[in-house]
Amino acid sequence: MKSQLTHPVFKIISSCADEMNVPAYVIGGWVRDLILHRPCKDIDIVAIGSGIELAQKVAKQLGNKYHVNVYKNFGTAQIAYEDYDIEFVGARKESYRSESRNPIVEDGTLEDDQNRRDFTINALAISLNAKTYGELLDPFNGYKDMEDQIIRTPLNPDITFSDDPLRMMRAIRFATQLDYVIEEKSLESIARNKERIKIISKERVADELNKIILAPKPSIGFKLLFDTGLLHYIFPQMVLLQGVEIINGKSHKDNFYHTLEVLDNICKTTDDLWLRWAAILHDIAKPQTKRFEQDHGWTFHGHEDKGSRMVAKIFAELKLPLNEKMKYVQKLVLLHLRPIVLAKSEVTDSAIRRLLFEAGDDIDNLMKLCEADITSKNEYKVQKYLKNFELVREKLKEVEEKDNIRNWQPPVTGEDIMKTFNIPASREVGIIKNAIREAILDGVIPNEYEKAFQFMVEKGKELGLVKEL
Ligand code: ATP
Repeated sequence: MKSQLTHPVFKIISSCADEMNVPAYVIGGWVRDLILHRPCKDIDIVAIGSGIELAQKVAKQLGNKYHVNVYKNFGTAQIAYEDYDIEFVGARKESYRSESRNPIVEDGTLEDDQNRRDFTINALAISLNAKTYGELLDPFNGYKDMEDQIIRTPLNPDITFSDDPLRMMRAIRFATQLDYVIEEKSLESIARNKERIKIISKERVADELNKIILAPKPSIGFKLLFDTGLLHYIFPQMVLLQGVEIINGKSHKDNFYHTLEVLDNICKTTDDLWLRWAAILHDIAKPQTKRFEQDHGWTFHGHEDKGSRMVAKIFAELKLPLNEKMKYVQKLVLLHLRPIVLAKSEVTDSAIRRLLFEAGDDIDNLMKLCEADITSKNEYKVQKYLKNFELVREKLKEVEEKDNIRNWQPPVTGEDIMKTFNIPASREVGIIKNAIREAILDGVIPNEYEKAFQFMVEKGKELGLVKEL
């Protein structure tokens, strides 16, 4: 490992630790990512002694340009160095009580510190003192587990997961990010301890869930969450998507696995967390809108509308942000069926204009969602649908070039209406504004000020706002 510790900061930490006569190690995620050749900006240093004093000495050596943030209560200190975040801590031993994930902490040895780590692959340490510089300390064979691509707890998994149930989410998150397998006993233990996830704050759970969603293939994580039963606690609405019903020999698709396919598909074209969330939620109201109709078989009428209205509650429950990101997800869920209709050959410009107006700048992402939504096993069908969407994209481009409707505002404003009819802000203003917008989108009048103004006057007359102008 010696040759790997190339960054000069390690030499500085090494000489400071030697001067203080304190054993020091780089440990955890940084070592894991070094072996896996993954970039990592968080460096954790464990000192068998005071981490805070070591940090202060290191900062001095670095030229006192760097501020040390000291967290006395936790016995930790942090230096933001270049774009690295270096955290120093004294080795510790932890013991847990059943009602909380916050342990009782005491000073400990390196082994104690490695014992409290969540997985073997996260428990590796590399010595920084000159005599043993670069030596790997791997008491649980984490290196081998990386070779075998296995997530395993260093101690009895029931203890590891029950002590801090967030580790169950972390196990599934690492398995998803790295495409590793969770060792059988650890996996069984998650299923046994799933209920304890309740003591974890929703923010932390959401944080891990989002990391799963941002992985290259999030379905790995969702299947594990489902199979272990964790998903039932953290995101029950998604569990309801699972299952197939058969009536008169007719079945519908399993919307849980369909959703996961859509999610994996969209991950190939976007890293946008919220577009990925839109994929997760696009069919979320299917269980609630499911009907069996004698003539049509299974239908899910209005699931896009109901689904869109479910988004706010789901975001609130998961402690996801209730801001413009949520509105964006709502919008994509609401509109996710619209481009399908536009694939028909006889579609009018006005239908295209309307979608452009409603989707605005999100139109490209909406098209990505629709394309990801094609999950047929029949390759011929997939190609056919993709081709249709290509046509829709062309039509959208044509109409957009002609009419410039994205981010469009009607030429006559509410102000204009109030001034012309000498009326205050009122229901009538809204009615006229809507009518103008609809007339333009429908192509009844062109997108021009003069024509829109005339139209406004006519509408005003109809509403009895003026006898004559
Ligand atoms: P990432 O950087 O991808 O979020 P990470 O695990 O490397 O993941 P941290 O969450 O900062 O990053 O954790 C750093 C190290 O601290 C881990 O490698 C692990 O050794 C230890 N650790 C973190 N969380 C826990 C936990 N809940 N239980 C036990 N050990 C943990």
